[in-house]
Amino acid sequence: MAKDTFIHRIKKNFFTRSLRHAVLVNSTIFLLFLIIFNLFALWLLAIIIGDKIDRRLVHESDRLKSTIEISGDSLVFISATEIMEPDFKDSTEHPFLLRIYNTRSDLIYESLNHNYFSRLETEIPDSLSKSILLSTESEGSTYRLMLDTINDRNGNVRAVLQLAVFESDIDETREEFLRMNLVVLPFFILLIFILSIFLAKRTYRPLEQIILVAASISASNIKNRVSYDAEPEDILGRLRDTINDLFERLDLQINQISQFTDNASHQLMNPLTAVKSELEYILKKRELPPQQLETIAMVAAQTDKMIEIIRSLLIISRSHKNLITSKAVVSFSKVLNDYIKTSYPGLKFAVENDIYIKGTEEYVRIVAENLIENAIKYSHNDSGGVKVTLIKKGLFAELSVADNGMGIPDSDKEHIFERFYRSKDAEKMGIRGFGLGLSLVKTIVTLAGGTITIEDNKPSGSVFVARFPVIILGD
Ligand code: ADP
Repeated sequence: MAKDTFIHRIKKNFFTRSLRHAVLVNSTIFLLFLIIFNLFALWLLAIIIGDKIDRRLVHESDRLKSTIEISGDSLVFISATEIMEPDFKDSTEHPFLLRIYNTRSDLIYESLNHNYFSRLETEIPDSLSKSILLSTESEGSTYRLMLDTINDRNGNVRAVLQLAVFESDIDETREEFLRMNLVVLPFFILLIFILSIFLAKRTYRPLEQIILVAASISASNIKNRVSYDAEPEDILGRLRDTINDLFERLDLQINQISQFTDNASHQLMNPLTAVKSELEYILKKRELPPQQLETIAMVAAQTDKMIEIIRSLLIISRSHKNLITSKAVVSFSKVLNDYIKTSYPGLKFAVENDIYIKGTEEYVRIVAENLIENAIKYSHNDSGGVKVTLIKKGLFAELSVADNGMGIPDSDKEHIFERFYRSKDAEKMGIRGFGLGLSLVKTIVTLAGGTITIEDNKPSGSVFVARFPVIILGD
């Protein structure tokens, strides 16, 4: 089981589909090249060995002819040293098989070693005027054969010399070559495989660089551009330009949307605050019957929620610019401490003193409120398991809000900071919300130079951890 998971993980993380494809293509090319190279080497080897055999035959034939003299009708060996050499006489490794025929094709001499080897039958051409080399097969063996004329002083052909050697040298070398190939081939295939992975990884390296830069570009960091060094005509250059064009257009559209949200929120905020103060006035005067006052109180509460949403949208679309440029520093410890004591009496909390961060009182409250409200809301309104802590860890202030509620499935964790995202569980359970709270929190945390993460709490629930760079006063 564990092995399966391990292999599966390697396959998923390392041998991704594109890598598998590239390795397959590279390996096939390498293997084809190896096969073609081997066939070529084999062919070349046969030619070289064949040529060596032919030269040996010509050389030996010349030497033999120099020991033969024609006297009248007979041929005489004036020296026996040549034909008495072991290669003509015994069963040696590379024997010469010699026969001499007269012009009527009658055998007139045969080397002694013929007894050791199968008989070689060859047709002697009727009119042989010059030497020829040919390959022939007889009784299961292949021979390379030379037919050469023995001429008298006047140049007339008086006899034919037939000199043969086994061609097994070529076959043996070929077999040896193939055997050697079989031994080294597995190593070669392994080498090819490793080499292919290396090459494929190398090919993708520039892409990884581009992906890294592209991944660092986000809505709040949209001005970044991919700056890979390649000509515009190059495939990587084209990819870089296409991605940069895409971000350029996105930048423009985000700006337009932001502008629109900004304007729309502003337009809505004024009439809504007017409605709210009218409703509050009516409620304060208490001149209407209780039933109507109840309805008005309900409308006032809904108006409050709408104002809250618009306020969030305004902060998300615009206020962050102020946060970035402003030099405002806030005592995280004091604001959080006061806020919890007044808004959530009875809530468990531990806040370290004298922690300062970049931002405003309002932003600290928004972050705390959203995280604490969620923790209570998604614990079925039981604040008993909710705990808020603020500590300083190195150069960071770490705010954590833990609950023992319903928890967040892994598949939701990457989405819950998106604008208007709500989990299916929350919807199913009828827990109310707009999906804006965490998006707002993330915007504020990110713009203060911090990060926010989610961990699973034990035995159940979640822990939201927001880290902000601390400001050391007096710097
Ligand atoms: P809202 O709470 O209005 O739906 P948020 O942006 O605050 O919007 O939260 C987004 C989603 O994240 C919620 O719908 C909910 O599914 C999930 N979530 C947030 N906080 C918690 C928590 N403490 N426990 C479980 N789920 C949570």
